[in-house]
Amino acid sequence: MNKWNNYETLEHHKGMIWVGKLIKTENKGNICVNQNGEFRVIAYVSPDMLEHKDLDTMVAEVVTAEGTQYLLEEDETKITCSICGNTYDELMVNIVDYPDDVCLKCESQYRERAKEYCEA
Ligand SMILES: [Zn+2]
Repeated sequence: MNKWNNYETLEHHKGMIWVGKLIKTENKGNICVNQNGEFRVIAYVSPDMLEHKDLDTMVAEVVTAEGTQYLLEEDETKITCSICGNTYDELMVNIVDYPDDVCLKCESQYRERAKEYCEA
């Protein structure tokens, strides 16, 4: 496993694009492409780059510059869970019953929390 770019250090952004978790807190980190679990770095974000742009815009510019916009396209048969951020086959995610898309793994916990909220 790559020491710097892996499921521990990165989080899912959109499509095949993953970004460093530190970008949120430290405004720096890698933008990577997830190719079947192998992360390839396509850009590095530094704090001054994020001064005038948000991450969404940055990522869109990077992939557009590389001519690889398809990397941002969501696979339509795959759905990302709003709770854990993992992407699953559409059959694994409940997109009907709640305002969020919730995968089967998160569903019981999510339902508990929703119930508490309603009863409060
Ligand atoms: Zn989930």
